Amino acid sequence: MNDFFHIDPRLEELAQRVEEEVSPAFKVLEATAEHNQLKVISAFQQNQVSGSFFYGSTGYGYGDRGRDALDAVYARIFGTEDALVRHNFVSGTHTLAAALFGMLRPGDTLLSLTGGPYDTMEEVIGLRGEGQGSLMEFGVKYQQVELLPDGMPDLAEIERAAAQPGVKVAYIQRSRGYSLRPSYPVELIGRMAAAAKKANPNVIVMVDNCYGEFSEWLEPTQAGADICAGSLIKNPGGGIAQTGGYIAGRKDLVALCANRLTAPGIGKEEGCSLNQSRGMYLGLFFAPTVVCSAIKTAVFAARLFEELGFECYPRWDEPRTDLIQAVKLGTPEGMSAFCGGIQKGSAVDSFVVPEAWDMPGYGDKVIMAAGTFTEGASVELSADGPIREPYAVWMQGGLTYPSGKIGVLLAAQSMLEKGLIKNPTATQR
Ligand SMILES: *Cc1c(COP(=O)(O)O)cnc(C)c1O
Repeated sequence: MNDFFHIDPRLEELAQRVEEEVSPAFKVLEATAEHNQLKVISAFQQNQVSGSFFYGSTGYGYGDRGRDALDAVYARIFGTEDALVRHNFVSGTHTLAAALFGMLRPGDTLLSLTGGPYDTMEEVIGLRGEGQGSLMEFGVKYQQVELLPDGMPDLAEIERAAAQPGVKVAYIQRSRGYSLRPSYPVELIGRMAAAAKKANPNVIVMVDNCYGEFSEWLEPTQAGADICAGSLIKNPGGGIAQTGGYIAGRKDLVALCANRLTAPGIGKEEGCSLNQSRGMYLGLFFAPTVVCSAIKTAVFAARLFEELGFECYPRWDEPRTDLIQAVKLGTPEGMSAFCGGIQKGSAVDSFVVPEAWDMPGYGDKVIMAAGTFTEGASVELSADGPIREPYAVWMQGGLTYPSGKIGVLLAAQSMLEKGLIKNPTATQR
């Protein structure tokens, strides 16, 4: 029992039981964190990271050793020839867009191997919105391989579709986004990459790695993907990086992406780091254990809400490949009470009440709970979801496990107080 927050004693008791039950799963997560922590330290050492790298450059940023060494550290961690890690990427969407615009040319086909892409990528591709400046407006063609009814990728269809002439980039989204399909483990990403390359040896396999970094021992680029990208206010920024994104992959491809971020002829050589380097290094150092805390929070939430009678995706005991925990609450009221509770557990902005709103890049109203040190950072405990069927919230983050746990308990408490939980003592076993 805690001295600081009111939690119904029945929920407290349930939480204690849940925590005992999930402890073997926690051990597995801790082993992954330890492996990845050593991987990160070793990459720092191999690149002789020094304290002087943390003081950034200004202006053009020529010869910024801290910036260049961080690229090399990421490349080492992701098992790639090169990387581009920049605070100048404004978000994950921008990073992914720079990569796609960097690699695709008019007439090429972008083939999604994992069904429809994440909401904000629909506008980048040109599937929704005004389409101004989208890939399709520039003459890039788009196709997607639909998922099987169980949400898994269709390997036979991937092979068939990738064989078509003109397919340049085969795109894999690792994490589930705002859907209830599973997130795809690295091993399965490897099989998708192999299927696409069997049909078309020259295809570039690119992975949207958002929320996946450090959740497993290997990254997708160590299992057959040519290039991957993600956001620094998610996993690899460790809650410390204040903005930015990364791309890691084959050297020729990273160069194309850099030409798009900056300009042809300039590529990776310009771009001052201002005062962002230290946070990007320190965040990367913290990332493996922060990811571990976030996934522990997700596992705890899944078991607790399963006991309370809600469907959770993934189930608590399924293997993890990202931070995301979806909880199907079934009603807009449930979403609002859940998000309100998460917000109440935050150290920052705990007094704010989340409300559904129109967000840039999203088609439906979205409700978001996030009391964060970095605005919108979803490696910090946050919960959100579009107000539409199946009225689920997608929860992620938790810089520390105790802060994640109290947020989840307050979400349950808030639903209990609104009469949205039938039986807080759980009778299911
Ligand atoms: C978060 C996310 C993105 C990028 O979102 P931003 O908010 O622009 O950083 C892209 N794809 C997936 C699967 C994501 O989870």
